[in-house]
Amino acid sequence: MGVEEEQAAARAIRSGWVTQGPEVAAFEREFAAAVSSRYACAVSNCTSALHLALLVAGVRPGDEVITVSHSFIATANSIRYCSAIPVFVDIDPLTCNLDPAHLERACTPKTRAILCVHQMGMPCDLAAIVKFARERSLTVVEDAACAIGSEIAWERRMQPIGAPHGDIACFSFHPRKILSTGEGGMITTSNEEWDAKLRLLRQHGMSVPDSARHASERVMIESYSMLGYNYRMTDIHAAIGRAQLQRLPELIAARRRLAENYRRILSGIPQLTLPAESTDARSNWQSYWVRLPDDVDQGKVMQALLDRGISTRRAIMNAHREPAYRSTNDYRAGSTLEQSELMQDHAIILPLFHEMTDEDQQRVGKELRTALVSAKV
Ligand SMILES: *Cc1c(COP(=O)(O)O)cnc(C)c1O
Repeated sequence: MGVEEEQAAARAIRSGWVTQGPEVAAFEREFAAAVSSRYACAVSNCTSALHLALLVAGVRPGDEVITVSHSFIATANSIRYCSAIPVFVDIDPLTCNLDPAHLERACTPKTRAILCVHQMGMPCDLAAIVKFARERSLTVVEDAACAIGSEIAWERRMQPIGAPHGDIACFSFHPRKILSTGEGGMITTSNEEWDAKLRLLRQHGMSVPDSARHASERVMIESYSMLGYNYRMTDIHAAIGRAQLQRLPELIAARRRLAENYRRILSGIPQLTLPAESTDARSNWQSYWVRLPDDVDQGKVMQALLDRGISTRRAIMNAHREPAYRSTNDYRAGSTLEQSELMQDHAIILPLFHEMTDEDQQRVGKELRTALVSAKV
C-alpha cells in the first residue's frame, strides 16, 4: 500500500460517510468489471462471504457440502456455520486442489453443494467440477479467497476467476492476499435474486438500506424480513480496495515473472516437486510452494533457511487434523486424505514479494539446496 491508498482512506473519512455507502458501491462496480461478473457484493471478510454464499445456495442444517480439508480452516468452518456437514475429499498433489476423481464416491442424496478452493491462487479443475455438479443439480461455490486475477480457459478463451463459471465466488482482502483492504471480502454471481438476498443478509435483513433512507424526500421506515448478520464493509476499506484494484494488473504481472523465475531456478533441484499450472489455468501466484522429498524434515529445512535470513511458511493446513474437527459429527471423510496430509507435512511456501530481485531468488535456491542436505532424516 502506498500514497494512493492513504489518500483513498482520507477521502472516505472526509466525505463523512464511512460505512456501506458510495465507496462500497463504487468498489463493487469496479470489482465486478475487473472479474467479468454481473454482480459483486462487498462484505466484511471472505469467511462471512462463504457463509452467505452457502446460505443463498440453499445449504440447510444436515445437508452435506463436498470440499477439501486441505485449506485454511475458514473454508470448512463456513459449512458448519450453516449447521451442514463438510465432506472432505483429497487433493491433486500437483495443484493442491480438489481432485474431481473423488466426487462420485463422496456424493450422497444429502449433498447440496460443492465448495471448491483455488488454493494459493491456482485455479482448480472447474470444468470437471461444474460438469459433475450440473449433472446432479448441485451448486458450485468457489472459495476464491486467494484467486483475484487468476484465470481459466472457459469457452475457448482465458477468463478471470469470479466470472460465471461456478454459481457464486468469494474473495478475500486479508493482508495475506494480493489485493488487500485490511479486512474485506467480495461475493460475485450472475444470479440477480441471490445478489439481492446477499445485500439483505449482510445488513441484518434490513429492507431499506441507510443510503436509500438518507437520500429519500419522504420518511421511510425499514423492516427486517429475515434473520441477517452484520457483515458490512466500511467505505474506508472500500476506498482502499479501489486504489488496490488499480495496481492489480501490475502486481500480478510481477508475481508471474517471479514464479517463472523460481520455476527456472528450482527445476535445477531434482528432489523438489514444483507447482504445476495446466494449460487451462493461469495462477496469480499468491504463494509459491515446493514439495520437499519425503526423507527431509520440513521443520529443519524451514529453520535452516530462517538461520540464513530466509523466512518461509508451512504449507496449507488440514482442517480434519485440528481439535475443532475432532469429532465425527464435525465432518465426514469422502475419500482418503493421504495427499492432503502429505502436502501439509512436506511442502513449504517460499518468499515471493513484488520487490524481490533475481539475486534474492537465486539465493533462496542456493540456500534451499544446502538445507535439503542438512535436514535429511
Ligand atoms: C484467507 C482465506 C479465507 C478467509 O478469508 P478472510 O478474509 O480472512 O475471512 C478463506 N479461504 C481461503 C482458502 C483463504 O486462503
